[in-house]
Amino acid sequence: MSEIPGHLLKKIEVYPNYECNRNCRFCFTSKDNNNYRSNPISFHSICEKIYIGYKGGCRMLTVLGGEPTVYDKLPNMLAFANKIGYIGTVLFSNGLKFADYSYAKKIASLKLKAVHLNIPSHEPDAFNYLTQSEHGYDALLQSIRNLKSLSIPMIAVCVITKQTYDKLAEYVDFYYKAGISFFIFHYAKLQGNLDPLNGNNAENIKSIVVPMSEAAKGLKKMLEHCLKANIFPPFIETMPPCVLDSYAYRITDFIFESKKFMSELRVIPGMRLRINKYDSRIKISECADCIWEEKCYGIEKAYINLFGKNEFKAVKELPQPYYNEIPEEKRTPLFISLPKLVEKTYIDMHGGED
Ligand code: SF4
Repeated sequence: MSEIPGHLLKKIEVYPNYECNRNCRFCFTSKDNNNYRSNPISFHSICEKIYIGYKGGCRMLTVLGGEPTVYDKLPNMLAFANKIGYIGTVLFSNGLKFADYSYAKKIASLKLKAVHLNIPSHEPDAFNYLTQSEHGYDALLQSIRNLKSLSIPMIAVCVITKQTYDKLAEYVDFYYKAGISFFIFHYAKLQGNLDPLNGNNAENIKSIVVPMSEAAKGLKKMLEHCLKANIFPPFIETMPPCVLDSYAYRITDFIFESKKFMSELRVIPGMRLRINKYDSRIKISECADCIWEEKCYGIEKAYINLFGKNEFKAVKELPQPYYNEIPEEKRTPLFISLPKLVEKTYIDMHGGED
């Protein structure tokens, strides 16, 4: 068994499989990737990696997919992690299975600390179109009610699409009222179902994906709204800072010094262990003169092929942060990382117990 640099890690990410009970048009996972199907990870092997992670200092487990709830050994995996000393699990899920209250209760009882819910729209038609599911919207709303009643913090993860990019403020209002605490807006990746090399022509892709400069306008409008409405301003992922001006400071996937040294451990079918998740992003000639260059992961090569590079201009001076207008005493939470915010929310929801 090869040694993994676990002493640098605090969490381990496990992808037990890539199966799913939805088929989102924007899904990053390729459905015809047979590599992982022919190399499934055994339950024994997953537990072994979780144990190595624990020995190396990991105390939190993150389970992703595919859809982790369709992995029938998920409860056994969480029970194993808890038994050896993990303090909790965060799941990334489409939420469908949590519409079944008894299932939600069972998973919640296994030290479930939070669920990131993949929610592409607040409108039933757009939701069902984007997820290609007939009753998915109603099931999702039931799942949110169930998780709320079980006091599990929820984070909505919204892939920005042509169907939603100009309605993001309404989206946040809707799900905030339903009980979701935090939001992450994620620009679509041109991978999986949106991969141009996966039988998609430009027209197909552009029916879902909007140019980043358009998406950025929707994001800025939504963030302004959240700040006025006292809703915690959402985080942004997979967009470069040059299109976001003052709101670049809401980006979570910057290159930080610590990240250069901390390899995140991922257990992935077919590949088993992958360190770099940004290898599809490149820099363009403009980047050389940009003040963000060291922190920015760049842009997907497939995006440049599809939309060109004219939207991206070197930033010569750091923009004024959006929070300059916010009184100093109210700023502190804006700089807290999402895991810490979620942990605090969990403790608050459970009457002070972690
Ligand atoms: S480095 Fe390049 S992609 Fe990144 S913010 Fe600057 S111009 Fe944009």
